[in-house]
Amino acid sequence: MKIYCCEEHVELALDIIVDECEAAPILQKLDGFPQMKCGYCEKEAIYLVDSE
Ligand SMILES: [Zn+2]
Repeated sequence: MKIYCCEEHVELALDIIVDECEAAPILQKLDGFPQMKCGYCEKEAIYLVDSE
């Protein structure tokens, strides 16, 4: 499971990964390309939260 998220929604994304995957989330900072939108708002994603 992968969730793209902005600074504002990173904690929400981490919580969702923990709840739904019951795994430790991996937080990865994006370099700005390819430009992805946050999964929860219209802002540009800054992080990718992934499960193992
Ligand atoms: Zn957001």
